[in-house]
Amino acid sequence: MDILKNRIREIPDWPEKGVSFKDITPLLMHPPAFQMAVDRLVDEFDAASIDKVAAIDARGFLIGALVAYFLDAGLVLVRKQGKLPPPTIAESYELEYGQNTLEIRKDSVLPEERVLVVDDVLATGGTAAATAELIRKAGGLVAGFGFLLELSDLNGRHKLQGEHIVSLLLY
Ligand code: AMP
Repeated sequence: MDILKNRIREIPDWPEKGVSFKDITPLLMHPPAFQMAVDRLVDEFDAASIDKVAAIDARGFLIGALVAYFLDAGLVLVRKQGKLPPPTIAESYELEYGQNTLEIRKDSVLPEERVLVVDDVLATGGTAAATAELIRKAGGLVAGFGFLLELSDLNGRHKLQGEHIVSLLLY
């Protein structure tokens, strides 16, 4: 997995002190790494009968769209509040300071559809857990979570308990 890890740039104390930002853009710029990351996620969920991939705004879109394409699944955009036309379903969650709200189009997930959640980074898990809640509110089933990388110390996995979680790299 060195080919992937070598293409993740770590930026200490950005965007604020104490945060080590994981920049995935070098990976996106390197075809063998980008292809390997997408292929690995597709392989992990190939047998999971995924109907839709829910890709999280904004870096999740870049990976999620490709995973959806290769899984022969539909793509659902999980967007920050106010970006999607109505009718939408919303879910708010707590951040360290304040809160954030995510939305999906109400008709983007059908009852019983099996949905895979994709994002670049699993940190505290709030974003992925809120996305799972949106899928359930729409009547869908959360079939799993796929991330490029996971920040293990933040224990985001704990918020997603019981689900199939795949992180290609652990930090
Ligand atoms: P969380 O809800 O705490 O799991 O945060 C996950 C979301 O925030 C993902 O959409 C990531 O893109 C972003 N994120 C959180 N922490 C980092 C980090 N250290 N480096 C890069 N992105 C991050």
